[in-house]
Formats: sequence, structure tokens, C-alpha cells
Amino acid sequence: MRHGQFIDRPPCEQAHSFEVATCSDPTCGLHLIAKRSNDAPICEVVIGRPQLRQLLGYIHDEGLDLL
Ligand SMILES: [Zn+2]
Repeated sequence: MRHGQFIDRPPCEQAHSFEVATCSDPTCGLHLIAKRSNDAPICEVVIGRPQLRQLLGYIHDEGLDLL
């Protein structure tokens, strides 16, 4: 993860909303399902547990968990 750097947003479809879920595999991580405005899924991203810890650190370091 790139701390303190801004990205150019990729030229791809942008999600209108997303769903967060877990599956029945206790060793799995977090499932994010990007959705269109009509609720149709675009793609699924599964974030493994080590990546989740990195993500939480990134959110905290960037102050994204502050109001
Ligand atoms: Zn899973």
C-alpha cells in the first residue's frame, strides 16, 4: 500500500455501492462485492487476513478513521 501518495483513478467501471461479507471458511478474510446502481455485482475482492491488517494500518495512518 502506498502511504502518502495519490493515485490516478483507473479507467474502469466505478461501483455505486459495495457489500461486505464473510464466507463459511474460518481461515478466509473479508469479501467486498462491488455493485452497480441496479444492485448487480461487478466484481468481488477477497482481502486475506494479513492484507486486512495492512489495510487497517493504512486506514489509521492516513487518518481515514477520523471524522
Ligand atoms: Zn471467503
